[in-house]
Amino acid sequence: MKKINKKLLSIIASICIVTVVAVSFVVTGFKSDASSNDSSKRTDTSHVISEKDYNIISNNEHKYPDFIEYDFGDYKGSDSVSIDTKVESNVKKNNILVDGKDSENIVIGILGDGFTKNEQDKFNESVKQTTNYLMSTEPYSQMKGKINIYSANINSKDSGVSYNPSDNRDTFFGTSFNHDGIQRRMKPKSYEQVKRVTNQIIGDCDATIILANDTRYGGSADLYHKLIIMSLTDNMNAVIVHELGHILGKLQDEYWSGAPSEGPNMTQDKDSPPWKDLIGKDGVGVYPYEENPSWYRPSNECAMIGNSEEFCPVCKRQLIKNMNEIISNKKK
Ligand SMILES: [Zn+2]
Ligand SMILES: [Zn+2]
Repeated sequence: MKKINKKLLSIIASICIVTVVAVSFVVTGFKSDASSNDSSKRTDTSHVISEKDYNIISNNEHKYPDFIEYDFGDYKGSDSVSIDTKVESNVKKNNILVDGKDSENIVIGILGDGFTKNEQDKFNESVKQTTNYLMSTEPYSQMKGKINIYSANINSKDSGVSYNPSDNRDTFFGTSFNHDGIQRRMKPKSYEQVKRVTNQIIGDCDATIILANDTRYGGSADLYHKLIIMSLTDNMNAVIVHELGHILGKLQDEYWSGAPSEGPNMTQDKDSPPWKDLIGKDGVGVYPYEENPSWYRPSNECAMIGNSEEFCPVCKRQLIKNMNEIISNKKK
């Protein structure tokens, strides 16, 4: 079991992109650094740099960069791109951690993109590390026995993923960086294809993770499709743990994302926050967001802020509650 490194993540900058308008994805929140709350920066979608520049940034300034998230809210549109790539008939799911029936457990599927046939060992090793990290992080560790994790070895013709959506790198899901003018935003060509393939091989998943075979930092979290895409970077598992906090815990960001919403760990009700009964326990309080002091969070250190690999007590409790709810809804 991997011991959690308690060292704070050196996340200095934070970008969160939240789309709340259906069909046309309007960028409503764009935070480029801790002190910048400039609305002109927050709506800038024209920031495109070359792949060469991106590599320089990746290798130097952004060793431990920010989370990149993509919250569709009520968006239920379908893809404009249709893909009919078929999974090879011999692809079966791998049981990574199976502790019970899928109908009675949380089910997480992990797939790869940009891994060639000869690189599947590398994918398998990443799956193992992600699983170990997740299952040694509270409260996922407390849910052991109630979480099933599967993977599948899907071969891509080309190794690595595209830098631009228009590039021709031939990978199974067509994952690419640089979507919507944000270089670190990675998306697959088709969410529907990911869903179809996942269902076909693994079955219905409560969360799907695509590991992209690229060491440049990038990713996205799509809450509607319950999908996380993440490249193979040093802090990838800390990011995955955070994103699963949204998907499996319905948690809000505890850093200022620019799109506030009442939730189990975010409120405007200073006197009676949802975590009132936990105040005083392990640092839990009612802390204003610096960028918008009319909103409050329960902690100044939490995986939902991104400055800790651990969740605060409020988020731990909420994750367990929501995961149990997901499970009990399956039984109905
Ligand atoms: Zn987040
Ligand atoms: Zn928290």
